[in-house]
Amino acid sequence: MTREFFADRLDVKAFAQARGQLSGHDSLLKYKRLAQVAPKLRPELYVDWHAAGEVRDRLGASAQIWLRLQAQAQCPAVCQRCMQPMDVPLKVDRWFRFVADEAAAEAQDDESEEDLLVLSREFALNELVEDELLLDMPLVPRHERCPVAVKMSAGEEEIAQEPGRSGNPFAALADFKPHGHKK
Ligand SMILES: [Zn+2]
Repeated sequence: MTREFFADRLDVKAFAQARGQLSGHDSLLKYKRLAQVAPKLRPELYVDWHAAGEVRDRLGASAQIWLRLQAQAQCPAVCQRCMQPMDVPLKVDRWFRFVADEAAAEAQDDESEEDLLVLSREFALNELVEDELLLDMPLVPRHERCPVAVKMSAGEEEIAQEPGRSGNPFAALADFKPHGHKK
């Protein structure tokens, strides 16, 4: 008999021992924290996620419980360069190792490259999906290529100018000086 697993209360150890797999195709509207960050969520936007559990036996030590989470979604945002709406592609692919308790997580955190989580019989996998999507959100979303010509303000133009292209930032200004000022 195959055991049923639930994304909102996952028995992580049993899931790993069974080499369990869970996946979901959820409307992003279901993710309340994400909806706060991205108020323009549309009902047709979905996240596809997949989780797989695994027990790794180790020689002379206790077995480790691992979970791999993969997720992808498109999340609406406003491009900070052209200020047009855009969909930011989010992509998650991470391994997590589960430890017995908070103390073990703290003790091992420094020496572990992987992310540590505390083992639970009712682990909120759906919260982890949301956490990871939020972490993948860019702080300053921008098109790779903006669909419209970007009008930059004077301040941004100075920043955008490559250093060294004109050694003196005022050289360009000099060209605009009315000729009447020349002696
Ligand atoms: Zn843009």
